[in-house]
Amino acid sequence: MIKYKLKCKDCEKSFDSWFSSSDEYEKLKKKKYLICHFCNSKDIIKTIIFIDNFY
Ligand SMILES: [Zn+2]
Repeated sequence: MIKYKLKCKDCEKSFDSWFSSSDEYEKLKKKKYLICHFCNSKDIIKTIIFIDNFY
């Protein structure tokens, strides 16, 4: 599992989201499934990456 800190370009709020892999992130991004939790914008960028080593 990979955790990305995502940031909305519209409202500039950030939130965390989990993905099974970096490929999954790219797929969701291309399909426009990444949506801001606050304003529903699809203009999302990833900022910080956390990789979970516990699994
Ligand atoms: Zn937003």
